[in-house]
Amino acid sequence: MKGWTRMSFKYLNPKKAPVFKDRFTTKVNEQIKRYETGDKGEVGIVGLPFSKSSISASLASDAPASIRRALGSVTTYSGERDRDFADVPVLDFGDVPAHPTDGRENLVRMETSVREMIESKTCERYIMLGGDHGVSFPSISAFQKQFGRVGVIQWDAHHDLRNLNDGGRTNGTPFRSLLEAEIVRGEDLVQIGIRDYANAKAYADYARQQGVHVYTMGDVEGRGILPIVAAELKRLKEHVDIIYLSVDMDAVDQAYAPGCPAIGPGGLTGRELLSSVASAARDPLVKAMDIVEVDPSKDFRDMTSRLAAHVILRFMYT
Ligand code: CA
Repeated sequence: MKGWTRMSFKYLNPKKAPVFKDRFTTKVNEQIKRYETGDKGEVGIVGLPFSKSSISASLASDAPASIRRALGSVTTYSGERDRDFADVPVLDFGDVPAHPTDGRENLVRMETSVREMIESKTCERYIMLGGDHGVSFPSISAFQKQFGRVGVIQWDAHHDLRNLNDGGRTNGTPFRSLLEAEIVRGEDLVQIGIRDYANAKAYADYARQQGVHVYTMGDVEGRGILPIVAAELKRLKEHVDIIYLSVDMDAVDQAYAPGCPAIGPGGLTGRELLSSVASAARDPLVKAMDIVEVDPSKDFRDMTSRLAAHVILRFMYT
């Protein structure tokens, strides 16, 4: 009709994706609010999309986006506990912008951003979305400066204690750097899921010399992961100020987490990872967690991002 202008649409909505909405179901991404000054939350989330210094080719820098997307396909209701966690306030602080070439500058940006987030004292606990494992160095440094002595429980197939002479600071060196800079003490570092034929003797020896508490997959098979986590929490709590969980998704078997740069057999099951993170997160001293080494470009049907999203639920909904 000539001269006629339509003011609204019956079905089209340019502002919203046409996603099916069930009135009784809350998806986790609906619960997460973008942080604005003055907001208070229970859990704060920040993205650290950095993977240029990865030893193997990695697009783990895309993981914060894919993990957030995966949070759109899970709900806030735990049937096992018959509890809906939609009332837990979760704030998203966004992603730290990367400098395209300056790795040192990126470490500063990450530490500064994590520090600013925790200094704002808006949340009780925090989740850092990597990135490769290199992001744990600036992130744990920020927590140490704010809170004091930090105990770290690391889920990982690898020690990440490589020397810095061969390649500088990479995703293979974060815990070496933390120990050498005396940001974390050897006895305060716990490594769970260390796998055969994925490490070098020099680094296992270094871990022993430093007093790191190392649990191999053999230990996990023999003792069970829950008793290991319980014993280490009890020990750490006697002398640290806070506990930081560092979850490298390659601790999980390639069957459950195919989207990591360094996949392999003989790792944890998805269930072992979820139940152990849940049991650790219930401890009031556990204030932070990072999730690293998810590379969406290598993933299959977002399996690894989905598992990472479930790790986040186990941490958030205690
Ligand atoms: Ca690692």
